[in-house]
Amino acid sequence: APRTAPLRARAEIDLAALRANVRALRAHAPGAAVMAVVKSEAYGHGAVPCARAAVAAGASWLGTATPEEALALRDAGLPGRIMCWLWTPGGPWREAIEAELDVSVSGMWALEEVVEAARGADRPARVQLKADTGLGRGGCQPGDDWAALVREALRAEAEGLLRVTGLWSHFACADEPGHPSIAAQLAVFREMVGYAEGQGVRPEVRHIANSPATLTLPESHFDLVRTGIATYGISPSPELGTPADFGLRPVMTLSASLALVKHVPGGHGVSYGHRYVTPGETTLGLVPLGYADGIPRHASSAGPVLVEGKWRTIAGRVAMDQFVVDLGGDEPAAGADAVLFGPGDRGEPTAEDWAQAAGTIAYEIVTRIGTRVPRVYV
Ligand code: PLP
Repeated sequence: APRTAPLRARAEIDLAALRANVRALRAHAPGAAVMAVVKSEAYGHGAVPCARAAVAAGASWLGTATPEEALALRDAGLPGRIMCWLWTPGGPWREAIEAELDVSVSGMWALEEVVEAARGADRPARVQLKADTGLGRGGCQPGDDWAALVREALRAEAEGLLRVTGLWSHFACADEPGHPSIAAQLAVFREMVGYAEGQGVRPEVRHIANSPATLTLPESHFDLVRTGIATYGISPSPELGTPADFGLRPVMTLSASLALVKHVPGGHGVSYGHRYVTPGETTLGLVPLGYADGIPRHASSAGPVLVEGKWRTIAGRVAMDQFVVDLGGDEPAAGADAVLFGPGDRGEPTAEDWAQAAGTIAYEIVTRIGTRVPRVYV
Protein backbone atom coordinates (compact mmCIF):
# COMPACT_ATOMS: atom_id res chain seq x y z
CA ALA A 1 0.00 0.00 0.00
CA PRO A 2 1.29 3.50 -0.74
CA ARG A 3 2.39 5.62 2.20
CA THR A 4 -0.28 8.24 2.58
CA ALA A 5 -0.64 11.14 4.95
CA PRO A 6 -4.13 11.83 6.29
CA LEU A 7 -2.78 15.13 7.58
CA ARG A 8 -2.19 16.32 4.03
CA ALA A 9 -5.50 15.26 2.58
CA ARG A 10 -8.18 12.68 3.22
CA ALA A 11 -11.32 11.23 1.73
CA GLU A 12 -13.66 10.55 4.60
CA ILE A 13 -16.04 7.70 3.77
CA ASP A 14 -19.26 7.74 5.75
CA LEU A 15 -20.25 4.07 5.82
CA ALA A 16 -23.39 4.82 7.84
CA ALA A 17 -24.53 7.02 4.95
CA LEU A 18 -23.71 4.22 2.50
CA ARG A 19 -25.77 1.74 4.53
CA ALA A 20 -28.67 4.20 4.67
CA ASN A 21 -28.41 4.69 0.90
CA VAL A 22 -28.64 0.93 0.32
CA ARG A 23 -31.73 0.78 2.54
CA ALA A 24 -33.23 3.71 0.62
CA LEU A 25 -32.53 1.93 -2.68
CA ARG A 26 -34.19 -1.23 -1.41
CA ALA A 27 -37.25 0.88 -0.67
CA HIS A 28 -37.14 2.37 -4.19
CA ALA A 29 -37.18 -1.15 -5.67
CA PRO A 30 -39.22 -3.16 -3.16
CA GLY A 31 -39.79 -6.17 -5.40
CA ALA A 32 -36.19 -6.53 -6.51
CA ALA A 33 -32.86 -7.53 -5.02
CA VAL A 34 -30.15 -4.87 -4.90
CA MET A 35 -26.71 -5.31 -6.45
CA ALA A 36 -24.23 -2.78 -5.07
CA VAL A 37 -21.90 -1.94 -7.95
CA VAL A 38 -18.44 -1.66 -6.38
CA LYS A 39 -16.25 -1.59 -9.48
CA SER A 40 -13.29 0.74 -9.69
CA GLU A 41 -12.72 0.67 -5.91
CA ALA A 42 -16.39 1.37 -5.28
CA TYR A 43 -16.30 4.49 -7.46
CA GLY A 44 -13.23 5.64 -5.53
CA HIS A 45 -14.67 4.96 -2.07
CA GLY A 46 -12.80 1.68 -1.42
CA ALA A 47 -14.19 -1.63 -2.66
CA VAL A 48 -13.92 -3.95 0.33
CA PRO A 49 -15.22 -1.67 3.12
CA CYS A 50 -18.03 -0.42 0.89
CA ALA A 51 -18.95 -3.93 -0.24
CA ARG A 52 -19.11 -5.08 3.38
CA ALA A 53 -21.27 -2.12 4.37
CA ALA A 54 -23.59 -2.60 1.39
CA VAL A 55 -24.08 -6.28 2.19
CA ALA A 56 -24.74 -5.45 5.85
CA ALA A 57 -27.48 -3.07 4.71
CA GLY A 58 -29.17 -5.70 2.57
CA ALA A 59 -27.50 -5.65 -0.84
CA SER A 60 -27.65 -9.32 -1.78
CA TRP A 61 -25.42 -8.96 -4.85
CA LEU A 62 -22.13 -7.20 -5.59
CA GLY A 63 -21.13 -6.16 -9.08
CA THR A 64 -17.77 -5.35 -10.63
CA ALA A 65 -16.52 -4.70 -14.12
CA THR A 66 -13.45 -6.96 -14.20
CA PRO A 67 -13.08 -10.52 -12.93
CA GLU A 68 -9.97 -9.43 -11.01
CA GLU A 69 -12.06 -6.97 -9.02
CA ALA A 70 -14.61 -9.68 -8.26
CA LEU A 71 -11.95 -12.22 -7.27
CA ALA A 72 -10.41 -9.64 -4.93
CA LEU A 73 -13.75 -9.32 -3.13
CA ARG A 74 -13.89 -13.10 -2.67
CA ASP A 75 -10.28 -13.09 -1.45
CA ALA A 76 -11.30 -10.47 1.10
CA GLY A 77 -13.87 -12.91 2.40
CA LEU A 78 -17.08 -11.55 0.93
CA PRO A 79 -19.60 -14.36 0.57
CA GLY A 80 -22.75 -14.26 -1.50
CA ARG A 81 -23.37 -13.43 -5.12
CA ILE A 82 -20.75 -11.45 -7.02
CA MET A 83 -21.10 -10.71 -10.71
CA CYS A 84 -18.50 -9.35 -13.12
CA TRP A 85 -19.08 -8.38 -16.72
CA LEU A 86 -15.97 -7.08 -18.47
CA TRP A 87 -14.14 -10.04 -19.97
CA THR A 88 -11.43 -10.28 -22.57
CA PRO A 89 -10.17 -13.46 -24.21
CA GLY A 90 -7.95 -15.56 -21.97
CA GLY A 91 -9.53 -14.19 -18.78
CA PRO A 92 -9.52 -16.07 -15.46
CA TRP A 93 -12.62 -18.18 -16.16
CA ARG A 94 -11.47 -21.15 -14.14
CA GLU A 95 -10.77 -19.06 -11.03
CA ALA A 96 -14.10 -17.30 -11.50
CA ILE A 97 -15.98 -20.59 -11.67
CA GLU A 98 -14.23 -21.95 -8.59
CA ALA A 99 -14.88 -18.71 -6.71
CA GLU A 100 -18.55 -19.07 -7.68
CA LEU A 101 -18.72 -15.73 -9.43
CA ASP A 102 -21.53 -14.99 -11.85
CA VAL A 103 -19.84 -14.24 -15.14
CA SER A 104 -21.33 -12.28 -17.99
CA VAL A 105 -21.25 -13.66 -21.50
CA SER A 106 -21.94 -11.32 -24.41
CA GLY A 107 -21.00 -13.53 -27.33
CA MET A 108 -19.72 -16.79 -28.67
CA TRP A 109 -15.99 -16.46 -27.91
CA ALA A 110 -16.79 -15.92 -24.24
CA LEU A 111 -19.25 -18.80 -24.11
CA GLU A 112 -16.66 -21.09 -25.67
CA GLU A 113 -13.99 -20.03 -23.16
CA VAL A 114 -16.24 -20.43 -20.13
CA VAL A 115 -17.42 -23.85 -21.30
CA GLU A 116 -13.83 -24.96 -21.86
CA ALA A 117 -12.84 -23.77 -18.39
CA ALA A 118 -15.87 -25.50 -16.86
CA ARG A 119 -14.75 -28.85 -18.26
CA GLY A 120 -11.79 -28.77 -15.91
CA ALA A 121 -13.59 -27.20 -12.96
CA ASP A 122 -15.27 -28.91 -10.07
CA ARG A 123 -18.61 -27.17 -10.52
CA PRO A 124 -20.72 -25.61 -13.25
CA ALA A 125 -20.14 -21.99 -14.25
CA ARG A 126 -22.75 -19.40 -13.34
CA VAL A 127 -23.36 -17.60 -16.59
CA GLN A 128 -25.45 -14.49 -17.17
CA LEU A 129 -26.21 -13.85 -20.82
CA LYS A 130 -26.00 -10.19 -21.71
CA ALA A 131 -28.29 -8.71 -24.32
CA ASP A 132 -27.52 -5.53 -26.22
CA THR A 133 -31.00 -4.02 -26.16
CA GLY A 134 -29.79 -0.75 -27.64
CA LEU A 135 -26.80 0.57 -25.69
CA GLY A 136 -24.48 -0.38 -28.52
CA ARG A 137 -21.68 -1.42 -26.17
CA GLY A 138 -21.33 -4.93 -24.70
CA GLY A 139 -24.00 -7.57 -25.11
CA CYS A 140 -25.31 -9.87 -27.77
CA GLN A 141 -27.31 -8.46 -30.66
CA PRO A 142 -30.96 -9.53 -30.86
CA GLY A 143 -32.01 -11.96 -33.58
CA ASP A 144 -29.77 -14.71 -34.91
CA ASP A 145 -26.83 -13.90 -32.64
CA TRP A 146 -29.01 -14.15 -29.53
CA ALA A 147 -30.69 -17.31 -30.77
CA ALA A 148 -27.30 -18.96 -31.33
CA LEU A 149 -25.95 -17.84 -27.96
CA VAL A 150 -29.04 -19.13 -26.14
CA ARG A 151 -28.88 -22.43 -28.03
CA GLU A 152 -25.22 -23.03 -27.20
CA ALA A 153 -25.70 -21.99 -23.58
CA LEU A 154 -28.57 -24.45 -23.21
CA ARG A 155 -26.48 -27.19 -24.80
CA ALA A 156 -23.69 -26.59 -22.25
CA GLU A 157 -26.25 -26.41 -19.46
CA ALA A 158 -27.60 -29.81 -20.50
CA GLU A 159 -24.04 -31.16 -20.23
CA GLY A 160 -23.86 -29.83 -16.67
CA LEU A 161 -21.08 -27.38 -17.53
CA LEU A 162 -22.96 -24.20 -16.67
CA ARG A 163 -26.13 -22.73 -15.24
CA VAL A 164 -27.70 -19.75 -16.98
CA THR A 165 -28.32 -17.78 -13.81
CA GLY A 166 -29.27 -14.48 -15.39
CA LEU A 167 -30.45 -12.59 -18.45
CA TRP A 168 -29.48 -8.98 -18.41
CA SER A 169 -28.85 -5.72 -20.23
CA HIS A 170 -27.84 -2.09 -19.63
CA PHE A 171 -29.51 1.25 -20.46
CA ALA A 172 -28.06 3.99 -22.62
CA CYS A 173 -30.20 6.96 -21.53
CA ALA A 174 -31.92 6.09 -18.25
CA ASP A 175 -30.80 9.44 -16.84
CA GLU A 176 -32.90 11.29 -19.43
CA PRO A 177 -36.53 10.65 -18.43
CA GLY A 178 -38.78 10.20 -21.43
CA HIS A 179 -35.92 9.49 -23.82
CA PRO A 180 -37.46 7.24 -26.47
CA SER A 181 -34.60 4.72 -26.19
CA ILE A 182 -35.77 3.76 -22.69
CA ALA A 183 -39.09 2.27 -23.78
CA ALA A 184 -37.43 0.83 -26.86
CA GLN A 185 -34.75 -0.93 -24.80
CA LEU A 186 -37.36 -2.29 -22.36
CA ALA A 187 -39.37 -3.71 -25.25
CA VAL A 188 -36.30 -5.37 -26.77
CA PHE A 189 -35.28 -6.69 -23.35
CA ARG A 190 -38.70 -8.26 -22.76
CA GLU A 191 -38.55 -9.83 -26.19
CA MET A 192 -35.03 -11.23 -25.75
CA VAL A 193 -35.84 -12.57 -22.27
CA GLY A 194 -39.08 -14.04 -23.61
CA TYR A 195 -37.23 -15.75 -26.42
CA ALA A 196 -34.62 -17.26 -24.09
CA GLU A 197 -37.25 -18.43 -21.61
CA GLY A 198 -39.28 -19.87 -24.47
CA GLN A 199 -36.23 -21.96 -25.39
CA GLY A 200 -35.98 -23.29 -21.85
CA VAL A 201 -33.68 -20.85 -20.05
CA ARG A 202 -34.70 -20.53 -16.37
CA PRO A 203 -32.79 -17.51 -15.04
CA GLU A 204 -32.72 -16.67 -11.36
CA VAL A 205 -32.50 -12.97 -12.19
CA ARG A 206 -33.43 -10.71 -15.06
CA HIS A 207 -32.04 -7.18 -14.77
CA ILE A 208 -31.45 -3.98 -16.67
CA ALA A 209 -31.80 -1.10 -14.16
CA ASN A 210 -28.85 1.10 -13.14
CA SER A 211 -29.18 3.92 -10.58
CA PRO A 212 -31.27 6.33 -12.66
CA ALA A 213 -33.63 3.53 -13.68
CA THR A 214 -33.86 2.31 -10.09
CA LEU A 215 -34.83 5.80 -8.94
CA THR A 216 -37.23 6.74 -11.73
CA LEU A 217 -38.42 3.69 -13.70
CA PRO A 218 -40.16 1.05 -11.57
CA GLU A 219 -41.13 -0.91 -14.69
CA SER A 220 -37.42 -1.56 -15.28
CA HIS A 221 -36.70 -3.22 -11.92
CA PHE A 222 -37.45 -6.86 -12.82
CA ASP A 223 -35.69 -9.16 -10.27
CA LEU A 224 -32.61 -7.10 -9.51
CA VAL A 225 -31.38 -3.50 -9.70
CA ARG A 226 -27.69 -2.66 -10.15
CA THR A 227 -26.97 0.54 -8.31
CA GLY A 228 -23.60 2.21 -8.48
CA ILE A 229 -23.59 5.97 -8.11
CA ALA A 230 -26.72 6.10 -5.93
CA THR A 231 -25.07 3.73 -3.43
CA TYR A 232 -22.51 6.47 -2.89
CA GLY A 233 -25.25 9.04 -2.37
CA ILE A 234 -24.79 10.92 -5.62
CA SER A 235 -27.63 11.68 -8.00
CA PRO A 236 -27.08 10.13 -11.45
CA SER A 237 -27.76 13.51 -13.00
CA PRO A 238 -28.60 16.95 -11.60
CA GLU A 239 -31.58 17.09 -13.98
CA LEU A 240 -33.15 14.10 -12.22
CA GLY A 241 -32.93 15.67 -8.78
CA THR A 242 -30.65 16.10 -5.82
CA PRO A 243 -29.51 13.19 -3.65
CA ALA A 244 -31.89 14.40 -0.92
CA ASP A 245 -34.80 14.23 -3.39
CA PHE A 246 -34.18 10.47 -3.53
CA GLY A 247 -33.41 9.99 0.16
CA LEU A 248 -29.68 9.63 -0.51
CA ARG A 249 -26.66 11.18 1.18
CA PRO A 250 -23.19 11.62 -0.35
CA VAL A 251 -20.71 9.25 1.25
CA MET A 252 -17.36 10.90 0.44
CA THR A 253 -15.98 14.12 1.91
CA LEU A 254 -12.68 15.21 0.37
CA SER A 255 -10.61 17.68 2.31
CA ALA A 256 -7.02 18.82 2.68
CA SER A 257 -4.94 20.91 5.06
CA LEU A 258 -3.63 24.21 3.71
CA ALA A 259 0.10 23.81 3.16
CA LEU A 260 0.83 27.56 3.11
CA VAL A 261 -0.98 30.88 3.53
CA LYS A 262 0.80 34.02 2.35
CA HIS A 263 0.30 37.66 1.46
CA VAL A 264 0.91 38.74 -2.12
CA PRO A 265 0.58 42.09 -3.86
CA GLY A 266 -1.88 42.88 -6.65
CA GLY A 267 -0.83 41.91 -10.15
CA HIS A 268 0.83 38.67 -8.99
CA GLY A 269 0.58 35.81 -11.47
CA VAL A 270 -0.52 32.52 -9.92
CA SER A 271 0.43 28.97 -10.94
CA TYR A 272 1.57 27.66 -14.34
CA GLY A 273 0.77 29.88 -17.26
CA HIS A 274 -0.25 32.77 -14.99
CA ARG A 275 -3.89 32.20 -15.92
CA TYR A 276 -4.83 34.03 -12.73
CA VAL A 277 -3.42 37.39 -11.73
CA THR A 278 -4.35 38.76 -8.30
CA PRO A 279 -6.73 41.68 -8.78
CA GLY A 280 -5.27 43.45 -5.72
CA GLU A 281 -3.34 42.71 -2.56
CA THR A 282 -4.62 39.44 -1.16
CA THR A 283 -3.80 36.19 0.61
CA LEU A 284 -3.27 32.90 -1.19
CA GLY A 285 -3.75 29.42 0.25
CA LEU A 286 -1.94 26.38 -1.07
CA VAL A 287 -4.08 23.22 -1.27
CA PRO A 288 -1.88 20.10 -1.44
CA LEU A 289 -3.94 18.16 -3.98
CA GLY A 290 -3.51 18.12 -7.73
CA TYR A 291 -4.42 16.32 -10.89
CA ALA A 292 -2.31 13.35 -9.80
CA ASP A 293 -4.84 12.99 -6.99
CA GLY A 294 -7.74 13.21 -9.41
CA ILE A 295 -8.46 16.93 -9.11
CA PRO A 296 -9.51 17.74 -12.67
CA ARG A 297 -7.22 20.18 -14.48
CA HIS A 298 -10.36 21.25 -16.29
CA ALA A 299 -11.53 22.72 -12.97
CA SER A 300 -8.69 25.27 -13.12
CA SER A 301 -10.00 28.76 -12.23
CA ALA A 302 -13.38 27.20 -11.41
CA GLY A 303 -13.40 24.49 -8.71
CA PRO A 304 -14.83 25.60 -5.34
CA VAL A 305 -13.26 24.95 -1.93
CA LEU A 306 -14.67 25.76 1.51
CA VAL A 307 -12.11 27.51 3.74
CA GLU A 308 -13.16 29.19 7.00
CA GLY A 309 -16.84 29.18 6.07
CA LYS A 310 -16.48 30.72 2.60
CA TRP A 311 -16.31 29.26 -0.89
CA ARG A 312 -13.00 30.08 -2.55
CA THR A 313 -12.23 29.46 -6.17
CA ILE A 314 -9.15 27.80 -7.62
CA ALA A 315 -6.75 30.55 -8.70
CA GLY A 316 -5.20 29.58 -12.02
CA ARG A 317 -4.20 26.13 -13.06
CA VAL A 318 -4.42 22.91 -11.07
CA ALA A 319 -0.91 21.44 -10.99
CA MET A 320 0.09 17.81 -10.51
CA ASP A 321 0.15 17.91 -6.70
CA GLN A 322 -1.21 21.27 -5.66
CA PHE A 323 -3.40 24.22 -6.48
CA VAL A 324 -3.91 27.69 -5.08
CA VAL A 325 -7.03 29.45 -3.81
CA ASP A 326 -7.44 33.20 -3.43
CA LEU A 327 -8.40 33.78 0.22
CA GLY A 328 -9.24 37.45 -0.41
CA GLY A 329 -7.22 38.75 2.55
CA ASP A 330 -8.42 36.18 5.07
CA GLU A 331 -5.63 34.62 7.06
CA PRO A 332 -6.39 31.07 8.15
CA ALA A 333 -3.42 29.31 9.72
CA ALA A 334 -1.42 26.82 7.72
CA GLY A 335 -3.06 23.46 8.35
CA ALA A 336 -6.57 24.92 8.20
CA ASP A 337 -9.19 22.69 6.65
CA ALA A 338 -9.97 23.10 2.96
CA VAL A 339 -13.08 21.08 2.07
CA LEU A 340 -13.36 20.35 -1.63
CA PHE A 341 -16.63 18.47 -1.51
CA GLY A 342 -18.95 16.55 0.76
CA PRO A 343 -22.67 16.11 1.37
CA GLY A 344 -23.13 19.87 1.11
CA ASP A 345 -25.06 20.44 4.31
CA ARG A 346 -22.17 22.00 6.22
CA GLY A 347 -21.73 24.70 3.61
CA GLU A 348 -19.22 22.76 1.54
CA PRO A 349 -19.46 22.21 -2.23
CA THR A 350 -20.59 18.83 -3.56
CA ALA A 351 -19.03 16.46 -6.08
CA GLU A 352 -21.75 17.73 -8.42
CA ASP A 353 -20.44 21.30 -8.04
CA TRP A 354 -16.99 20.02 -9.04
CA ALA A 355 -18.45 18.12 -11.96
CA GLN A 356 -20.04 21.32 -13.20
CA ALA A 357 -16.80 23.28 -12.70
CA ALA A 358 -14.88 20.66 -14.68
CA GLY A 359 -17.46 19.99 -17.39
CA THR A 360 -17.90 16.37 -16.39
CA ILE A 361 -20.13 14.10 -14.30
CA ALA A 362 -19.93 13.50 -10.55
CA TYR A 363 -19.17 9.82 -11.26
CA GLU A 364 -15.80 10.89 -12.66
CA ILE A 365 -15.04 13.27 -9.79
CA VAL A 366 -15.26 10.64 -7.04
CA THR A 367 -13.89 7.73 -9.09
CA ARG A 368 -10.69 9.53 -10.00
CA ILE A 369 -9.58 10.44 -6.48
CA GLY A 370 -6.18 8.78 -6.43
CA THR A 371 -4.37 6.36 -4.17
CA ARG A 372 -2.24 9.06 -2.50
CA VAL A 373 -5.37 10.21 -0.73
CA PRO A 374 -6.12 7.94 2.22
CA ARG A 375 -9.70 6.79 2.67
CA VAL A 376 -10.71 7.29 6.27
CA TYR A 377 -13.75 5.22 7.23
CA VAL A 378 -16.12 6.78 9.71
N1 PLP B 1 -24.47 -1.92 -14.52
C1 PLP B 1 -23.43 -1.85 -15.37
C2 PLP B 1 -23.25 -2.89 -16.40
C3 PLP B 1 -22.54 -0.79 -15.29
O1 PLP B 1 -21.49 -0.73 -16.12
C4 PLP B 1 -22.74 0.20 -14.30
C5 PLP B 1 -21.85 1.35 -14.21
O2 PLP B 1 -21.60 2.05 -15.15
C6 PLP B 1 -23.85 0.09 -13.45
C7 PLP B 1 -24.70 -0.99 -13.59
C8 PLP B 1 -24.15 1.11 -12.40
O3 PLP B 1 -24.51 2.35 -12.97
P1 PLP B 1 -24.91 3.56 -12.03
O4 PLP B 1 -23.64 4.00 -11.37
O5 PLP B 1 -25.47 4.59 -12.94
O6 PLP B 1 -25.88 3.01 -11.06
